[in-house]
Parts: sequence; C-alpha cells; structure tokens
Amino acid sequence: MPLKLSWVASANGADHPFPLNNLPYGVFSTAGTDPRCGVAIGDMILDVRAAHAAGLITVGGTRVFDPPSWNAFMALGQDAWADLRDRLTAMLAQGSDAQAALEPHLVAANAAQMHMPIEVAEFTDFYAGRHHATNVGTMFRGADNALPPNWLHMPIGYNGRASSVVVSGTDIRRPWGQIKGPGDDTPRFAPSQRFDMELELGAIVGTPSDGPLSVQDAFDNIFGYVLLNDWSARDIQAWEYQPLGPFQAKATATTISPWIVTAAALAPFRCDAPVREVPLLDHLRDAGPMGYDIDLAVTLTPNGGAPTTIARTNANALYYSAAQQLAHHTAAGCPMRTGDLLGSGTISGAEPHQRGSLLELAWGGQDPFQLTDGQTRSFIEDGDTLALSGHARGDGFTVGFGACVGTLLPALATPYAR
Ligand code: MN
Repeated sequence: MPLKLSWVASANGADHPFPLNNLPYGVFSTAGTDPRCGVAIGDMILDVRAAHAAGLITVGGTRVFDPPSWNAFMALGQDAWADLRDRLTAMLAQGSDAQAALEPHLVAANAAQMHMPIEVAEFTDFYAGRHHATNVGTMFRGADNALPPNWLHMPIGYNGRASSVVVSGTDIRRPWGQIKGPGDDTPRFAPSQRFDMELELGAIVGTPSDGPLSVQDAFDNIFGYVLLNDWSARDIQAWEYQPLGPFQAKATATTISPWIVTAAALAPFRCDAPVREVPLLDHLRDAGPMGYDIDLAVTLTPNGGAPTTIARTNANALYYSAAQQLAHHTAAGCPMRTGDLLGSGTISGAEPHQRGSLLELAWGGQDPFQLTDGQTRSFIEDGDTLALSGHARGDGFTVGFGACVGTLLPALATPYAR
C-alpha cells in the first residue's frame, strides 16, 4: 500500500509520522481552549469534536466526543472504529469535496498542547521481551536461573496502577524508597540511585469483555497502541520484588506518547512472532501474525547537552503479542474495561546496542556507556531527558508514534516536603 495523498500538504512526505495512512487519535488544547479529541494529519490537528458538532462526522451519536478522552468512542466497538477511519480518510484525501468545510477545524500541531488521550481504566505491565528477561534475570539471579521456568509458557505480568500513568512531556520526580544493596546489613530509606527507564509498547483495550477471550478475539478488542516508558527504580526493585513482584519500583510514573496509533493503521506492519521454543498451550496459541514491525529508539539528552541515541531495536522482538497478553489476562475470568492499558515489557534485541533499558545498556552499572558529549551513564541523572520514538516504514510512507518524553527532576529534599 503506497502513501495516501491528502489535501493537507505537510502530510504527503515519505518520512512524515502522520500521513493519511496513520490518522492517530489524541486529546489536545490550544491557548485559552479546553482539551478535546483530535486526529493528527501532517503538521495539523483536525478538531474532531468541532467537526462532529458541525455534522461533518456522524459516527457514534451526539455525545460521544463531548468528554476530553477517546474512551466513549472506543467503547462503541470495531464497526464504529472502521466507520470513523473510513470517513476521516475520505474527507482528508486529496480531491475531497469536504476540504472547504473541514479547513476551519484544523489547528497547527505546534500551537497545541497534548493531554492524556484516554482515561486509563487499569494498567498491567508484562515482561514479553526475551532478551530483556534474560539480561535482567542474569543480573538479578545469575545466568543459570536467568529465564524463569514459566517464561516460555505464558506472558508474565503484574497489575500496575492507572493513577501513575502520565502523558509525554510530564516531568518525573526521582523517588525515595526502601533500599538494601548487596553489601548493606540493613535497609535504608533514601532517594533511588539506580533510576531507570523501559522502552515498551502499550496496547489499549477498546472493547470491554467479561470472561476468557481467544487470542483472535483479544486481538480484535485492541483499539490501538502507544509508546510507553515504564520508569523503574532498580535499587528499590531488587530489594522488594520477591515474592510478589515489583511494587514501589514501578509506582513513580509511566509515560505514554500522546497519539494512539490504531490497530487499523498498523495492519500493514503485522508480523509473525519469534520461533516458539516450546509449543504454547491452546489458550495462547498463535492465531496469525499479531506482532508488529516497528523500529524503536531511545534518546538521552543531559540537561543543556546534546542528544545521544542510546538504543535501537524493533517491536518484532517481542515473544508474546499484546493479543496473547490480553487473552492470558482474561483466562481466569478477569473482566477487561475500555481504556485498560497493557505494557508489553521492555523491548530489547539480541545485540548490546538494542537494549531497551539503562540497566541492560550499562549492565547494572558495571559497564557505563558513553554519551556524545563525553559524559558516561549507568543510570538516569537529574536533569536527563529520555525520549522514545517509534516508526513503522511502509512503501513510500511512515506510520509514526510521536514523542514519548520525560525529564527526571531531583528527589525532594525530604520525602514528605510538599
Ligand atoms: Mn516494564
């Protein structure tokens, strides 16, 4: 499928992240206006709420775009998702007679502030990157016990917190926590000294469910995807994680990119999962290509310094698809809600430069890596900005995710200061 041409001229570049082929959904505001639903097209944002109010979009009844989130629309289900995408594609296409009516509802993206695109119902984080699981397991438990015995049989995950999910651009505060290093006799309560990031893809559940889902039904219930940075305090994690998994180490914040790239936009980039080392049980068995070929990168920029790309990898390295994770999530009867967010787990490739966390890139602090300005890093330092990027490359077009950015602020002087 080639680049689809739009009358929004800036959308017609082979490298632009938001061509007509993409049409990602977000929530934006401009100076003096309230947040509302929009769709990115080139360097512009189409005000979906205004276009709906003007009768140019008739999908979903009269109130669906009143709230500043996509939840009400997502809850309408697959037919409505396809109807809106078809309508927007037709109206924004080169030669459309809707151009004159739509033009007043376009705003420049560089004049807009982005907000959370959804109300996150609940947040679950998985661990589906095999190289990441192997690397972290080697550091935490030794090479002989690196991959847990259950790992090749099911997607490992934990229930996180919706309340700590924030949109790209939100500053992150270095946390305090309980820490006990290998050489410490007793734990202490102190600012984390091993604060890290995780390069992940987030899947957003659109259609709610109540009971076990097949992998195919789970795939169909996923509305779209975002980039996701699961900020992680490794020193807190190492002391707390057994026996119930991470808790305070993951409680500070999780950043998502502001644009939801729909499953429909990513359809041309579906790919098969990695080779299965052991057969999966029936409830997880592969039901077609449900991974994605998406190039991913991480950039670290010190305060006032130059950016360094510290990792490049691809989402096709994930051992379990979001559909398999969602199917497994429902297997014991867990109801899923519109707006549920599922983190993929850190996406690392086999090569050292493909590692999606600083923990792996600097091997637990044993092997600090270089930045372009001569500084070195083992973990994130105060003032560092971490940015994730993601691009799927088609034949003459790109489907991009937009930025997923956060800057680390120093810890508070005492944990209880306000
Ligand atoms: Mn994670």
